[in-house]
Amino acid sequence: MRFDDLNLHPKLLANVAAEGYELATPIQAGAIPHVLAGRDVLGCAQTGTGKTAAFALPLIHRLVSDRNPASDPNAKPKNNHADTRARALVLAPTRELATQIADGFKTYAKGSGLRGVTIYGGVNQNPQVNTLRRGVDVVIATPGRLMDLMNQGHVDLSGIRALVLDEADRMLDMGFIHDIRKIVAQVPKERQTLLFSATLPASIMDLAHRLLTDPATVKIEAATPTVDRVQQFVHFVERSGKADLLAGLIESEGMFRTIVFTRTKHGADKLVKQLKQRGVASEAIHGNKSQNARQRALDNFRRDKVPVLVATDVAARGIDVDHVTHVVNFDLTHEPETYVHRIGRTARAGAEGVAISFCGPDEVAWLRDIERLIEQDLKTVGDVPAWTRRPGKGAPRPGQRPSSGRRQRGTPAKPQGGDPKPRKKHRKGKRSANAAQSNPAGNHGGDRANHGPNARPRKRRRKPRNA
Ligand code: AMP
Repeated sequence: MRFDDLNLHPKLLANVAAEGYELATPIQAGAIPHVLAGRDVLGCAQTGTGKTAAFALPLIHRLVSDRNPASDPNAKPKNNHADTRARALVLAPTRELATQIADGFKTYAKGSGLRGVTIYGGVNQNPQVNTLRRGVDVVIATPGRLMDLMNQGHVDLSGIRALVLDEADRMLDMGFIHDIRKIVAQVPKERQTLLFSATLPASIMDLAHRLLTDPATVKIEAATPTVDRVQQFVHFVERSGKADLLAGLIESEGMFRTIVFTRTKHGADKLVKQLKQRGVASEAIHGNKSQNARQRALDNFRRDKVPVLVATDVAARGIDVDHVTHVVNFDLTHEPETYVHRIGRTARAGAEGVAISFCGPDEVAWLRDIERLIEQDLKTVGDVPAWTRRPGKGAPRPGQRPSSGRRQRGTPAKPQGGDPKPRKKHRKGKRSANAAQSNPAGNHGGDRANHGPNARPRKRRRKPRNA
């Protein structure tokens, strides 16, 4: 579904377009109309599905409309309204998620004049208190610090009209239920409540029953079924060898309709140049490109004028291209869910697809996180260098990604006590050796390797038409 069809303010649509979003994700298409209509929503979706925008966009729309009911929605609202109480409260389990949500609000609400504060523990409270004193429209908070500030009399929740609980299952896992109850008791009963959770165990359904009134339920299927239809390979390769390896594979496998993911915008531009030097045509899409340039690149890719699209994660989300045969993770991602999204670009509508990941020495720990999430090992192609057996190297620092090893497929929740989950020990060495054996076609990184669903060499060779 296109954002234009969702009846959001033109200003919001412009902000969304500036982010490069083309299509609403399923959770957005499902939730936004209900939130706009003022209904309570129970949303079942994981991080990475676009759920922040699913609640932020319609809430911002309502906040702006409520404040200036008679005015042009595109006009900049005045900040001198009499009621300075916060009107929306978003609760999130961790500081990271709260910050991420706040970034989303900032992006989507640009130019609206809405003011917000992000409240979380582990830092000096004074800046947060000062911002609260100046008056805010939206409070985004972790429950613990919010309770602290409430107990000190710094927070007035009597004006809250919209309450969001994000990653509610994690908040319960982390033991926030009592804080949540106390906080909700301070919020007016006349309100709209949105509850998002990756899973819907009995404890969440019980909470939903107590907090929500006649909610619309929006469930997004877990991404894993797609993963099962994608042939997934990994090449262990030093960073300096990645461009050659990619160009070699594109040529030898006759790869087209291939999306290559890089971590950064700069990395995407650089790769386009490197591929060009090696005779492979490609175009990049990322946030620094104008809307026109992005559209042109997409059109060229869709029409097979360019066989390779180099993309950053943010730019690639919401882009709808059928029949993508290969996804290449030129850079691995530290977010396993993002890996699932990336490879979900292929294997659409029941088709099979191929995902090839390049893993450098500093990315091994991320690879293991991905394998843990998808509950399978990627097939190794080529050598398994010694550095793969030092999984500590390059591992995200504890606390950098407390949600890694996210529960999947209904595995039971374990209490976390607010701390990041301990990492499981890796099955050192053995796994990689087995994986290498299970892929006898694989030879050395940089050389030709098979990546077809049947692991046969592809005969098809197609010269880029605009090379
Ligand atoms: P979330 O699940 O809210 O954490 O969103 C994950 C990422 O997807 C964020 O980086 C968003 O900027 C991006 N995103 C959200 N909605 C869309 C969309 N409709 N199209 C493209 N990217 C999106």
